[in-house]
Amino acid sequence: MKPYRLAARDGKDTIIEIVGNDGSCLIGEGYCTIIAGPCAVESEDSILTAARLVKELGAHILRGGAFKPRTSPYSFPGLGVHGLELLALARKETGLPIVTEVLDVRDIDRVLEVADIVQVGSRNMHNYPLLRELSRCKIPVLLKRGYAATVEEWLLAAEYLMAGGNEQVILCERGIRTFENMTRNTVDIGVVPLLKELSHLPVIVDPSHATGKWQMVRPVAKAAIAAGADGLMIEVHPHPETALSDGEQSLNGGNFSRLMDEIRALARLEGKKM
Ligand code: PEP
Ligand code: MN
Repeated sequence: MKPYRLAARDGKDTIIEIVGNDGSCLIGEGYCTIIAGPCAVESEDSILTAARLVKELGAHILRGGAFKPRTSPYSFPGLGVHGLELLALARKETGLPIVTEVLDVRDIDRVLEVADIVQVGSRNMHNYPLLRELSRCKIPVLLKRGYAATVEEWLLAAEYLMAGGNEQVILCERGIRTFENMTRNTVDIGVVPLLKELSHLPVIVDPSHATGKWQMVRPVAKAAIAAGADGLMIEVHPHPETALSDGEQSLNGGNFSRLMDEIRALARLEGKKM
């Protein structure tokens, strides 16, 4: 038996439809889907400003963490349930579908009330009880690669979701930990064509966490699309210098606008709908 069965590329490509308040978008082969928004939901004003900004510039899906996995217990942990309420408000106002992270099995029901896609973060890729619970849910899961996970471990985590009945899995490369410490993580661009060969699942890239530096986000985002990624997850903040988390890797409106123009041109070149 192959170590992974359901993710293996012997069927059709998985195309996932995400339905927002006023329209829908598709994620998978042939599409270039852009997820954008702040690292964390910080306040009503900041999430609504960010949501309007990314919507106006053409993003398809809004991201924003309500429950934040922070390395230090003294860092901003997110607004929790209040953050979810603010995401619901942003969804209502902009029509954008929402992706947000669930950290704990006890929060799944509350997150599912708001989210159109639920994110399993890098630190939780190996959290098998969480994967098993989400495998029983009818919601697309954005499964980030564990920062020290091999491709096989990552695909087997996807397998947990699919084996339990949830076939709507999106793989997200977000960089891995190596000996290099000038960047936050090391981007594994080669994993994009590799996964496209091995698996039928959509593959997107998060160049924000992968690099940790806003100056590197645009070039690496373009490399990801050129390598065949089905989309991007980009941290965007109206005022990155005041962000409560990950400001140094967040694009401001001007830089996100420039990125979107460049990605549109690349998507055309790659024959992807955007
Ligand atoms: C995030 O996307 O908010 C995040 C915490 O990323 P990662 O799990 O990849 O570190
Ligand atoms: Mn972040």
